[in-house]
Amino acid sequence: MMDDARIEAIIQEVMDELNLGDRPRHGPSPQPLRPATLAELAPAPQLHHGDNLFPDVESAVAAARRAYLQLADLPLTLRERMIAQIRRVMRENAQLLAHEAWRETGMGRYEDKIQKNLLNANKAPGTEILDPTAWSGDDGLTLVEYAPYGVIGSIIPSTNPTSTVICNVISMVAAGNAVVFNAHPGARGCSNHTVQLVNEAIVQVGGPPNLVCALAEPTIETAQQIMRHPDVGLLAVTGGAAVVQAAMQSGKRAVCAGPGNPPAVVDETADLQQAGRDIVLGASFDNNVICIDEKEIFAVDSIADDLKRSMCSNGALEISSRQLDRLSQSIFDQVPPAGQHGAMNKAFIGKNASLLLQEIGIEVGEEVRLILVEVEPDHPLVLSEQMMPIVPLVRVRDADQAIDLAKKAEHGFRHTAVMHSKHLDHLSRMAREMDCSIFVKNAPSYAGVGYRGEGFCSFTIASATGEGLTNPISFSRIRRCTLKDSFRIV
Ligand code: NAD
Repeated sequence: MMDDARIEAIIQEVMDELNLGDRPRHGPSPQPLRPATLAELAPAPQLHHGDNLFPDVESAVAAARRAYLQLADLPLTLRERMIAQIRRVMRENAQLLAHEAWRETGMGRYEDKIQKNLLNANKAPGTEILDPTAWSGDDGLTLVEYAPYGVIGSIIPSTNPTSTVICNVISMVAAGNAVVFNAHPGARGCSNHTVQLVNEAIVQVGGPPNLVCALAEPTIETAQQIMRHPDVGLLAVTGGAAVVQAAMQSGKRAVCAGPGNPPAVVDETADLQQAGRDIVLGASFDNNVICIDEKEIFAVDSIADDLKRSMCSNGALEISSRQLDRLSQSIFDQVPPAGQHGAMNKAFIGKNASLLLQEIGIEVGEEVRLILVEVEPDHPLVLSEQMMPIVPLVRVRDADQAIDLAKKAEHGFRHTAVMHSKHLDHLSRMAREMDCSIFVKNAPSYAGVGYRGEGFCSFTIASATGEGLTNPISFSRIRRCTLKDSFRIV
């Protein structure tokens, strides 16, 4: 349980975020609101079939298709009103949904989940990004516009179960689509409650009901039925390798946001105070469950000790390799041999560092946000997507060796990479070699999704299929209309 001081600190963080923090570059300014304490939050809702939760794929897709056709006959300005209302309702419910996600999945940190919801409500891009293009010349006028696909099937992960819904719904509805969501079975309550609140927001401003809807009892089988359904025009999957593979084999166009294993490279020119602080902030954000969080560190030998000291004065605790051997028995399903990655023990995914440390008899308070351990480059923890607050550090000769090992550890996902350096050649080589959707220089990884960094936000980072941070254009068909010798004004 959290004490009053911690709850006060969370309230202050949220107030700072709403009043002083990120201003949306794409979307309305957030209205200040008083965040609820855990005690004030309403109990989790009882979700029922009906409204926009459906018992089977057939009825969900049919309802979404009806709503999509209704929307096509309504004014474009309605889309803007719907997006504005979705943002407002999601901001108002950011704490409630964060709490539901935290309680239902048992993963991550309540206060970080609030930030994730607010970030997406404020900075997921909406209709403003869909600027039409026109070419005018001696041969007439050609207009290019962004059209919807129709019904999108969106598969949601357990690690960002409410924030991904908020992100996707804003981008998909802005582009004029309807969406059928299939939540992770282990996060169905909070994901589906988000979908219900979004549906209410849409209806409040005159939008069609069921424009966004969900499977009441989502399973992997219902996800696969959505993938095969003839009335689903586009898939958007956010999750691990298996769901990406299933979507790619479906025969439909699919926007696939798959796994990552983001390395952080620190060279001898880095500001080590900042690098240590930023890596702890990024790697411990929501207890490392987010796909962009730093998952392993490659530090040049000459500064590795200073970097570790900086991390330890910013909320990390270093353990020895012998302690890691013991902890590995708990955190891996089965400890893989050196050079291989392995599956993590679900009981420890997204848990606080203090809980992991208890496994090896170390009692610490919540001030320890991250466990740090020095390992060899082929240690399974370097190669595995751990999704828990323990980060391995590998000592290397120089920046070139760091980049080579970082590329290997990232497995070619081309998802996210981080570098702390002031050396332009090192930064350029890392950017080119990693070839990732997101490359963050001298900041926590989360700056790359617009959290205390510039640019819009997305929590569906489609590295596997190349869209990168998704936005309404990712969910639009691009259509061209050409007029010969008419409609020009000069
Ligand atoms: P998961 O792969 O277990 O589940 C994701 C979703 O896919 C769930 O809804 C699940 O029911 C469904 N699913 C799983 N296997 C399927 C199959 N064979 N056929 C159809 N549906 C299937 O992932 P998770 O544990 O919920 O989330 C964590 C993973 O997602 C991590 O690997 C993380 O990196 C990745 N992720 C990526 C992004 C991104 O933007 N690239 C964002 C969030 C999470």
